[in-house]
Amino acid sequence: MPEAKQMKCIECHGIMNPSVMSLQLEREGIVLIFEDVPCLECPSCGQQEIPGAIAEEISNLAEYFVKANQAVKDTPAVSIGRINIDLEPQATFTSALS
Ligand SMILES: [Zn+2]
Repeated sequence: MPEAKQMKCIECHGIMNPSVMSLQLEREGIVLIFEDVPCLECPSCGQQEIPGAIAEEISNLAEYFVKANQAVKDTPAVSIGRINIDLEPQATFTSALS
């Protein structure tokens, strides 16, 4: 069984560990707050990085959320809350509005 490819820190070249982080995105004037976003974190310098596939998924979720929830346009900030991204095309998320 092949080992998972290890990501190296761009700052100090340490091996990055899987972690989670909070992320804020703005779409059409709406601030979307994602929590528990899967990311990689450097144990040495604290550098955080979101893998490209996950960043793309988050971007798609943000677009979808803004389009699907017109009501949020009256709200300055929306917490998307905990998201569950498993790199499948149909990522799921729970909304603070539901
Ligand atoms: Zn580092």
